[in-house]
Amino acid sequence: MRKKIFAGNWKMHHGPKETLAFLKEFKEIVAPDAHREWVFFPPFVNLMTMQETLNGSFIKWGGQNCHFEQKGAFTGEISPMMLKELGCTYTLVGHSERRQIFGETDSLCAKKVKALNEAGVIPMLCVGETQNERDENLTSQVLKKQLHEGLSLWDPSQPLTLAYEPVWAIGTGKVASPAQAEEAHQMIRQVLSLKYGPARSAEIQILYGGSVKPDNSRELSALPNIDGFLVGKASLIPKTFALIGQTPL
Ligand code: PEP
Repeated sequence: MRKKIFAGNWKMHHGPKETLAFLKEFKEIVAPDAHREWVFFPPFVNLMTMQETLNGSFIKWGGQNCHFEQKGAFTGEISPMMLKELGCTYTLVGHSERRQIFGETDSLCAKKVKALNEAGVIPMLCVGETQNERDENLTSQVLKKQLHEGLSLWDPSQPLTLAYEPVWAIGTGKVASPAQAEEAHQMIRQVLSLKYGPARSAEIQILYGGSVKPDNSRELSALPNIDGFLVGKASLIPKTFALIGQTPL
């Protein structure tokens, strides 16, 4: 059974003081569970606070982005090796905001996936179609391209997680219906299966992201190919995020 991952993407919210207060409250309401994993993706400036507060805890953390080199003259960038040093278990790659606002391409994502694995950090590659692409029946084509190109440098013996995040559902309050989400997740798993074989494909966790809240998480969580959630807005409040992850499995 694939362990469910409940991941909070804080985007550019919460500074170090708010992070401390958040974690204090969160640790009191969430208990370790063999079938669930909790992960936070805070702004980089909070990673040390995460490490100091959560070291040895069942709660994991990671970066929202990284560079594809381990060191060098890249002003303003953070490397996978530095994220590893700060105790990051995972790191996001290709979040739709990185793709849309900062122009990140699939080939850039491929380099980041490889560099993260080399540093011992698990990449969480985000894929998903825009509203226009869905309306034009291009969802399958878009997902295939993002997966083929984004994983073109991935060594399948290395760990990997994926997040299906339809762009039209991120921060919009519009959540994919269970049928839409399961269909996309099945499609993703099939691409993985064709490329890497059914056994490897069956091991990879595919999270759903896009306006997940406590009142829609139960139905989505019950779907066979949804292995947890990548949550934006609703992960900023400890009780709300805890409720999402405490959905019965
Ligand atoms: C996200 O940022 O990855 C996300 C899914 O955001 P939200 O939950 O706010 O839609």
